[in-house]
Amino acid sequence: MTHIFHRNPRQQLDFAVRGEGIRLFDQHGKAYIDASGGAAVSCLGHGHPDIIEAIKRQLDQIAYAHSSFFTTQAAEELADFLQQRAPGDLNHVYFVSGGSEAVEASLKLARQYFVEAGQPERSLFIARRQSYHGNTLGALAIGGNAWRREKFLPLLVPAHHVSPCYPYRDQQAGETAEHYAQRLADELDAKIRELGPEKVAAFLAETVVGATAGALAPVGGYLQRIREVCDRHGVLLILDEVMSGMGRTGHLFACEEDGVAPDIIAIAKGLGAGYQPIGAMIASSRIYDTIVAGSGFFQHGHTYMGHATACAASLAVQRVIERDQLLDNVLARGEQLRGELRQALAAHPNVGDVRGRGLFVGVEFVKDKESKEVLDPALQVHVKLKKQGMANGLMMYPMGGTIDGVHGNHALLAPPFISTPEDISEIVARFSDAVRQTIPIA
Ligand code: PMP
Repeated sequence: MTHIFHRNPRQQLDFAVRGEGIRLFDQHGKAYIDASGGAAVSCLGHGHPDIIEAIKRQLDQIAYAHSSFFTTQAAEELADFLQQRAPGDLNHVYFVSGGSEAVEASLKLARQYFVEAGQPERSLFIARRQSYHGNTLGALAIGGNAWRREKFLPLLVPAHHVSPCYPYRDQQAGETAEHYAQRLADELDAKIRELGPEKVAAFLAETVVGATAGALAPVGGYLQRIREVCDRHGVLLILDEVMSGMGRTGHLFACEEDGVAPDIIAIAKGLGAGYQPIGAMIASSRIYDTIVAGSGFFQHGHTYMGHATACAASLAVQRVIERDQLLDNVLARGEQLRGELRQALAAHPNVGDVRGRGLFVGVEFVKDKESKEVLDPALQVHVKLKKQGMANGLMMYPMGGTIDGVHGNHALLAPPFISTPEDISEIVARFSDAVRQTIPIA
């Protein structure tokens, strides 16, 4: 009998008792390859000595000091590190404890910016269907996952949604990427005009969609066109890189690959790599300066923001990634992972798409490859696949659920950046075994 109710009480979980590199071990000594980094978190794997050492050093000095009384060396150095590497004029860092808090803070910052900038009528937010931005009320309100929102709707502030960039399903036959990107940008433009451009505060999107669609990357030119639409109407662009950021795609910030800098970016997960809970919002100088010139400070805050131990762990994580040039490995191993998955599952009739960027890889399952019809929800493929993966000693992140009337079924793979070519081949072998065992070839 467990007294924790994080999960369905019918689900029996083993204990994670040890971690080493890309593997976790349960209380029976069984090893699991962490091929999803939990939920795209553990980018350095487990038990990394440099991170443990940095945490111990910080604890010996000061574990925590409230941010209204003191700053700490760890928080200042981490902010400098991020500011120096963030795209555009994203120069001002605000530390929180996780992804939902980072998104929540981004929404409030966008709102306060317009109040200070003398445009208080701007209070509307637009996001995309098939998106997930967190589970707190504000982040849940803006997200586009109908199933997650349903029960809480009376409590959610109104949000508006446009189509995601989902080439596998929505790019029409014969339609070029340029045309498709323009069509989606036009949809956003029309939505802003419909709501009244003077009322819209921000457009929020995951640079690469994670949990609701499985490593869904935008087509080339999409984010640039979205940026143009936002600029045309004075709307802020907020990118949610909670899952896709911090090197997961092979670039420290995923949007670098698209040549676009947002006004605000939300990061978490890989920032602390699971060694400590930490997230951050990075805002542009324009936003920061406007608020400082106005009421002087951002009216927000959490007890644990800028937590010294979390910042020390995160700084150590980011320095190891840079020192060991792990982003080169992310790009190479990502190519290998997609290539080997496509090969191993080419003959499987239910594997519709293998996609992603870097070590952020999604596999979408369908009933029929030609029609792309979705699998029968009653099959509960995502539940069975996760279970089979664990039986095979593989952690992956399968998702299902009804999203805007479409039952998607996909699995997310997000192996640690330290994975070797042999590790990747082993992941492919265990994953494709699990797929064949779970989804019978018709
Ligand atoms: N945004 C995105 C894109 C996410 O993937 C997640 C977590 N899956 C969140 C926000 C929320 O982050 P957290 O669970 O750390 O609150």
